[in-house]
Parts: sequence; C-alpha cells; structure tokens
Amino acid sequence: MASSVWWIRRDLRLSDQPALLSAAAAGDVLPLFVLDPSLWGPSGDVRRAYLLRSLRKFDSSLAGALHVRIGDPTSVVPNVASQCEASEVHIAADFGPYGDKRDGAVDAELRKAGRSLVRTGSPYAVAPGRVRKDDGTPYRVFTPFYRAWLAHGWRSPAPPAIANQWLRLDGSQTLPPEPELGSLVLPPVGEEAARTRWREFCATDLVDYADLRDRPDLPATSGLSAALKWGEIHPRTLLADLDDSRGHDAFRRELAWREFYADVLHQAPETVRRNLRTELDAIEYDDGETADKRFEAWRHGHTGYPFVDAGMRQLLAEGWMHNRVRMVAASFLVKDLHLPWTRGARWFMQMLRDADVASNQHGWQWVAGTGTDAAPYFRVFNPVAQGQRFDADGDYVRRYVPELRDVDSAHIHEPWRCASGVPPAYIQRIVDHRVERQDALDRYASARRR
Ligand code: FAD
Repeated sequence: MASSVWWIRRDLRLSDQPALLSAAAAGDVLPLFVLDPSLWGPSGDVRRAYLLRSLRKFDSSLAGALHVRIGDPTSVVPNVASQCEASEVHIAADFGPYGDKRDGAVDAELRKAGRSLVRTGSPYAVAPGRVRKDDGTPYRVFTPFYRAWLAHGWRSPAPPAIANQWLRLDGSQTLPPEPELGSLVLPPVGEEAARTRWREFCATDLVDYADLRDRPDLPATSGLSAALKWGEIHPRTLLADLDDSRGHDAFRRELAWREFYADVLHQAPETVRRNLRTELDAIEYDDGETADKRFEAWRHGHTGYPFVDAGMRQLLAEGWMHNRVRMVAASFLVKDLHLPWTRGARWFMQMLRDADVASNQHGWQWVAGTGTDAAPYFRVFNPVAQGQRFDADGDYVRRYVPELRDVDSAHIHEPWRCASGVPPAYIQRIVDHRVERQDALDRYASARRR
C-alpha cells in the first residue's frame, strides 16, 4: 500500500483532523514531528515543557508511532518522505510569517524529488486571508472583521479518522528532557484534557462568560488558550457547541479575536516586530539605565501597582495571565514606563504557555495603540481603577502579592493611602500614573504631528 507523511506542527490531536483524513486517504500514515531549532531556541522553558508533555501524550494516543526528528524541516521532511517512499506530505497550513516561509521552502524541496506538500485546513475556523472587505483589502478593525467572519461561516468538525495502520520508520530521535520548572505547575495537557476542560467549562462558567470573563479573581474563562495554540483542540470543535445565548455569543467573539489577529499578521507579516500603524513609528520611548531598572521591576512584579504586580507574578507562577490583566500590565509598560511594546512582547513570548505570535504581538500592539485598536492612542489603562473595577475585593491581588495580604479591600488597589502596615514599595511606586499618563499622551500627540 502507498504511504504518506502527516507532518504535525500545531495539531496535536486525532479528532477533527482534516489533514490526517487527507493523509490517510493517500495510504498508511507516518506521523512526523520535527523539532525545529529555529523555533525551539527562542522558546521559554514553560512553552518547551508544555510541548514536550503534549507530544508524549500524543505519542501514546498513536501507540508510540510518532516519528520524531530534530533539525531543519527543509531537509528533514523531504528526507523522511524519501525514506518511507511517500509521494505526499500532508499538513494543516501555517499562516504565521516563519511557518509560511518554511512550508514554501519544504514544498520546493519536495517538488524537486517529485513529491508534494498537501495543505488541508489550518489552526483556524476560517483560514487567514479568506475574510476580506468588498474591495478585496483586509480588515484592520475587529468589529467589521467579526461581522464578515460570522457571515463567511466555517465547516463542521471533521469526521473521525478511520483507524488506519501507522507506519513505523527507523531513525526516530529522542525528545529532549523536560526543563525544570521549579514551583511552576502546568495544567493537564493533551487532547483528552482539552476536551474534558471544554465539557466542564460548557457545563459551568460558559453561561456567565459575558458577565464574568473580565474577572481575574474568578476561574471564569476557559483556560484553553495553550490547547488552542498547540491544536490539542480545534476552534471548529468549540464553535460547533455554541448557540446564540449571551455567554456563547461572547465566547465566539473572543475566538474571533484569535482569528482576526492571525489574519492581520498574515496580511502584514512585517508587523511581527513592526508597528501596523507606521505613522506611530516616531513615538519616543525611553532607554538606558533607568528604563532597564523599570523593565526589571515590571517583569518581576515590583512596580508598586498591585493589579499590575499580581498579573506579572501570575505569569511567573503559572506561565499564564488573565486577559484583562495582560491589557493593564502591557499598557503600564508602554504608557507608564514608556518602553517599546516589543520589549514586553518578547518577555510574554518567553513566559506564556499559550505564547502565540499573532495573538501576542497584536495583543501588544492593540494596547500600545500602534495596531488594530479603533480608538488607539488616547486609551491609557488606569491600573488602580481597573483593579477596583475587576478585582473589587482584592482577592486576585492577595493571591499573588502576599505582602499585601493584610490590606483591606478598600485600599488593596491603592495601598499607599493606608496609614500603616504597607511595604515601602507600595508607598513609593516606581512612577506616578497621573504624571506618566499625561507624558504618554504628549508623546503620542507629538509622534502623530511629525
Ligand atoms: P478565554 O476567555 O476562555 O477565551 C477563549 C479563547 O479565545 C482563548 O483561549 C483564545 O484562544 C481566544 N482569545 C480570547 N481573548 C483573546 C484575545 N484578546 N486575543 C486573541 N485571542 C483571544 N492569547 C494567546 O493565545 N497567546 C498569546 O500569546 C497572547 N498574548 C497576549 C498578549 C497581550 C498583551 C494581550 C492583551 C492578550 C494576549 N492574548 C494571547 C489574548 C488573551 O489574553 C488570551 O488568549 C486569554 O487570556 C487566554 O485565556 P483563556 O483561554 O482562558 O481565554
């Protein structure tokens, strides 16, 4: 029987898996994972540990048939295809700047040997590039994209793959050992865990998602971002379970943000490091010793602003941070500390277990006002007001900032107003938000005048 290679990248699951169906239709399947040093090198330990754990789980669901290679996919994939005499290599398309180029190069190498790279599906419900304005140009603002995305629609989940023979091939390499994470605890990984979590979320918090999703003190969100990133579950599977009720609608909208950012990055790959709004390239940022010290204080959660510090410490403790706090902590770095968004985005990419280049770089640009926000440069999050609104009792802050455990709810987001019992860092704060907010507005206004 003919054989084919199923090259797995961000699709560590067996169900709702169009690329596997397409590979299986071409013959017995060799499931291949290539550990690419270009992606592995810059990854943080949390992301590495998550991937390794998920790969091991996935391998057991393949009865140990996962073929692992370490190296540059441009040479590794064609070599493996030749070794198992497969005429086709099947993938889910990658729309990120690096993945897109890499796949183009692999495709070219395979063609030289008379083989082909077959793309079926993608990690998204609607592939990036599909949703366009009437004049054919891409959307740069979320709400009109969202309407067009809904109108476009998506396929139902793919049927289960027919149990087929996994090919086994000599030369599979051993995955590296899992990095030591100290006290950081990862949640359960893998397809089964993702499906279990989804069922649990549907039965509990989804109904109140519209009202509670901004509350970091509650476990009110799905926690599925890392599973989506690695394709342990496909967004199509989630969308298929949603109806038109308020909570479900709000959840669909959040999934659409993920699709929107992937689309924006695909249409403008240079925005992985550069501003989407190039007219804001002239914003003045700080550098030098004070800037470096402030960056250190921010990333370790010692700014003196409890809501920001709690978020940054949650990131250190769990490799994850609640979305509302990501926005506030990111805004603080860019608009209170006047540091470039790229610096914070790099730290998030290193630390997040769900680190995803499109959602992260464009999440940061949205906050910095240099990306897709429709009302961008004058939005400056107030770290005190945000805390008071979304963590009114201060439970979130107390969970991650133990030195504020005894501060009462009325003062938890501005402990400097307490008469006593507050550590000096929370009296002094590294900057004064009111002053820095005005400075940020001035810098943005002056950049726009240039
Ligand atoms: P839920 O509220 O349960 O949402 C369900 C899913 O929708 C998420 O898993 C995610 O895939 C998607 N989603 C929700 N909100 C957003 C959003 N604002 N943008 C894009 N997708 C969204 N998300 C990542 O997956 N990876 C990142 O690297 C990342 N970096 C971010 C950086 C910044 C500065 C900001 C402001 C946001 C970032 N986000 C990122 C988006 C968001 O914070 C996370 O997706 C969310 O917190 C994950 O938690 P959850 O799975 O419980 O989300």
